[in-house]
Amino acid sequence: MDPLKQRCCQSARRTDNGWVTSNDSDARAAAPASGTGSNLSALRDHNAALVLGLLRAAGETGVSRLELAAHTGLTPQAVSKITARLRAGGLAAEAGRRASTGGKPRTVLRLVPGARYAVGVHLDRDEITTVLADLAGRAVAVRRAPLAFTAGADEVLATVGREVAALRAAAGGPPVLGAGVACPGPLDHTAGVLHRVTGAPAWDGFPLRAALAGRLGLPVVLDKDTNAAALGLAQGCGDGAGSFAYLHLGTGLGAGLVLGGGLYRGPRTGAGEFGHQVVERDGPRCGCGRRGCVEALCLAAVARGDLADAARVLGVGAANLVELLDIDRVLLGGRTVLAHPDGFLRGVAAELTAQARTRGGSGPGVPVALAPGGTRTVADGAAQLVLAPLFGPHRPAFAAQGV
Ligand SMILES: [Zn+2]
Repeated sequence: MDPLKQRCCQSARRTDNGWVTSNDSDARAAAPASGTGSNLSALRDHNAALVLGLLRAAGETGVSRLELAAHTGLTPQAVSKITARLRAGGLAAEAGRRASTGGKPRTVLRLVPGARYAVGVHLDRDEITTVLADLAGRAVAVRRAPLAFTAGADEVLATVGREVAALRAAAGGPPVLGAGVACPGPLDHTAGVLHRVTGAPAWDGFPLRAALAGRLGLPVVLDKDTNAAALGLAQGCGDGAGSFAYLHLGTGLGAGLVLGGGLYRGPRTGAGEFGHQVVERDGPRCGCGRRGCVEALCLAAVARGDLADAARVLGVGAANLVELLDIDRVLLGGRTVLAHPDGFLRGVAAELTAQARTRGGSGPGVPVALAPGGTRTVADGAAQLVLAPLFGPHRPAFAAQGV
């Protein structure tokens, strides 16, 4: 069976009117629409998402209705209904005609990236980054400002409200579907509630998603910074996301895991606490309360200026992850890595090669690279918390631009 059709069968249910609706957890996780966030539920129809995904993959070239039918398994009539609805909503437009074999030229359609936008918010411990991304995921506006994440909810909410308002105003107030908010974990993605964030325990139990939805007047999706980044990186994989780990070393250390093409959050959305694997039982105290965590060792090495040791510790953790999950590649990001990218890449690669040698053979280890996006990887990924569910399962049918 075609993998795409198989996914349709597994994750969709047919309603009385013949439409198939999504059971996707990302769609359920978003806060109810309020205020200026509109049209989100209408876009979340599963088949419309499949069509939108193919339109996005086709880019400016566009795609015909018959091609859409062939790639989705939908009937041409169903595709016509969906595309008519998307055109009426301004999301799709005609992109000319293309010659076809033995018949009249076919009209091709393309996505209109500027029809809607999503806000991406990266709450770091000392800085906020906001982006306004169009439907193609391109940032059309970016802002950065200082933030004291430990200063408490009132100050953080006020800063987010001010920054998002300025971001939207700078872009001329275009239609916004919602805001994806990425912050340090651990947290409950499904409930939108923070847990005992390392180094900021006062946030434990705070319903940040609901508070921000009220403040911004937008539907909000909340996730860990690492998960948002990994989701965004998976969207950019033209050759299919496969399995990879995004390791983020900034003011803390965590991982976003993409397994079998999908972001893995775990049943309690607590997966990816990579930094808190204990590798030295009697090591230095970690912000989480235990001793000898990879994060504590890594940040301690950075603090004393021993970047080679920091890279080696990060590499040991990465090698553990490869042993456990047999992933295809490792991507590095975060402010501390970006300040010394060559040293971290070298150190992690050395540990991954050493790990591969224990498995036999003399080939290199699992490849490691810098994550695309630089200091915006998390904020861009946060926008994808809103955008990605609109486009159905990621499946590059027409274009290929890979990580
Ligand atoms: Zn720890």
